[in-house]
Order: sequence, then C-alpha cells, then structure tokens
Amino acid sequence: MAIKCIGILTSGGDAPGMNAAIRAVTRAAIYNGIEVKGILRGYRGLITNEIVPFKTNSVSNIIQQGGTMLKTARSKEFQTTEGRKIAYETIQREEIDALVVIGGDGSLTGARIFAQEFNLPIVGLPGTIDNDLQGTDLTIGYDTALNTIMQAVDKIRDTASSHERLFFIEVMGRECGFLALNGAIASGAEAAIIPEKSMEQDQLADLISNGFRKSKNSSLVLVTEGDITGGAMAMAERVKKEYPQYDVRVSILGHVQRGGSPTASDRILASRMGAAAIDALLDGQRNVMIGIQNDEIVYVPFSKAIKKNKPLQQDLLDTLKILSI
Ligand code: ATP
Repeated sequence: MAIKCIGILTSGGDAPGMNAAIRAVTRAAIYNGIEVKGILRGYRGLITNEIVPFKTNSVSNIIQQGGTMLKTARSKEFQTTEGRKIAYETIQREEIDALVVIGGDGSLTGARIFAQEFNLPIVGLPGTIDNDLQGTDLTIGYDTALNTIMQAVDKIRDTASSHERLFFIEVMGRECGFLALNGAIASGAEAAIIPEKSMEQDQLADLISNGFRKSKNSSLVLVTEGDITGGAMAMAERVKKEYPQYDVRVSILGHVQRGGSPTASDRILASRMGAAAIDALLDGQRNVMIGIQNDEIVYVPFSKAIKKNKPLQQDLLDTLKILSI
C-alpha cells in the first residue's frame, strides 16, 4: 500500500535534538509528497485525539530548540490492549498510513507491539540522552547531554581543587554507563562508577585500593544514577563510613542534562535520521529503528534495538583508567 499520510510523535523522556528530528521527518515527507500529521503528547495524543496537520512551516525555527514541540508524555493506557485499540481507531479516522515514533526503549517497545497488533508500518528514531539503544552507535540527545555534563564537571572541578575534596557527581543513564564513562573521559575525571560493572566488582573499593588520590589534591568521580550503582549519595555514605579521611561531597546534575540547545552533532544526526525514516518507509521497511553505525545509516529491527545491556567499549574503560594516574 502506498503511504500517503504519516503521523509523527515523540514519547518518553524528552531529548535535545527531538525537534530537529521532527523537522527532518516532516520536511522529508512533504518533499516526497506525503502528508504529515503531528500527534501531541506521545501515545496519549493518539488516545485523546490530539492531532494537528503539519506543513513545512509548522517546523520552522525549531532546529535549535531543546525539548519537543510536539510535547511528550508517558501513557499507561497505551500499555493496555483497550488503550491501543482506541489509538488505532484514531489512526484509521485520521487516515494515517504509517507512524514515525521518536523515543527511548519504552517508546520503541510500545511501537513494536502496536505495529504487530494492527499491521501498521512504524519506523522509530532513537531519541534519548542515555544512548542505551542497541544497533546504533549514537542516540539523538546523547552528545548534547554529554557536553552539558562536561561543562558542569569543569565548573565543579574549580571548587573540588580549591578545597581538596572528593566529589561524586551523579549523571543520568539508568542501566547504561555511557554518559558517566564518556563524561568522565571528556572532563578528565578520575573514574566512573557504572552499572555495567556493578555486578562484577566493588568499583569504589577498587578505586581506593588502586591508590586513588595519592598524587592529587582533588578527585572527581562520575556515578550513573539508579538502583544498580546506588547513585552518588550511596557512594558518599560509604566513603564517610569506610574511608573517613576523605572530605566528600555530592552533586546530582539532574534535569539540566536533558535540556538545552542541541549540539551540531545532535542536529546533524537527527536530520539524517529523520530523512532516513521517510526513505525507510518508502523503501517498504517497517518495524525498524533508524540507527547509525560507523557513520552510516542502518535499519535495526525493534526487537534488537530494545534489547538490554548495550555493550560498552572496553577501550574507553581502559583509557579512563590509564589517564587517571
Ligand atoms: P526514556 O528512555 O527517555 O525514558 P522511553 O521511551 O524509554 O524514554 P518510557 O516511559 O519507558 O520512556 O516509555 C514511553 C511510553 O511508551 C510509555 O509511557 C508507554 O506509553 C509506551 N510504552 C512503554 N512500554 C510499553 C509497553 N510494554 N507496551 C506498550 N507501550 C509501552
């Protein structure tokens, strides 16, 4: 069936570059003679029928803006069969032939289920700062968040070195240590405590026993948020109890990491991926996420993209360790 009209939505956590992706999808679709409908507030907007027709100028002047002009939401109703049925009725009523979904693993899990249930072509774009989707080297928003972290850590470093303190800086990432690990390399931090290593080693004890701080008057350690590592507060509590000789402080970066104008890399990535989403649909692809591997666009089946435990490159861990002597 020829695709005459697509719907586009952003879902889950917002990420810088989502707007650039919305713009690219919209413009590439219109360029190819396809009508575009913007769906507000993610899957919830499909259930509550919040649909707006998009023209080329609907996406003017947004490439540089963080967040998402379509708004985003988390929809419990969409996780039920009844909710998705209502969503599909909206799709039929609006004569939408295919969907482009921009979001993280939860959003793409929802997309996969929805596509299968109603035989609807859906293409996903990886929109999350966590870089936790498989089959793509990068996700939209990751580079901007990494730069924000680097700038914040640079500032914290001034205080840390003036006071000779040990700082635990908590960053986002949930089950993925990319932001902590690359954030640590980029800011010259001493170490990263990441979920991927939490099961196999006591990262804090290793850090201290490896001569941590011997030759330095301040130390910065990035810690991935969440239950797996315990987060920065838990690390600081442990240091107070087990290594009371250290003057320890905590800084939780929080939502500043998700905001701000996207970097050039994120805008370019989002633009390429957005245009590729339309190519994919025209090419008869469905139920794939657009990924990037070695700077080339690839199609990644949803089932692969949402698999947990994206591997971290060992050389990054080695580099951080070597450079922190
Ligand atoms: P982020 O990684 O930034 O948190 P995300 O896309 O993983 O983004 P989630 O809150 O996990 O964010 O998912 C967003 C939405 O996707 C949910 O609110 C829900 O509507 C839908 N969704 C998630 N999982 C499922 C599922 N198993 N079935 C149907 N829909 C789902």
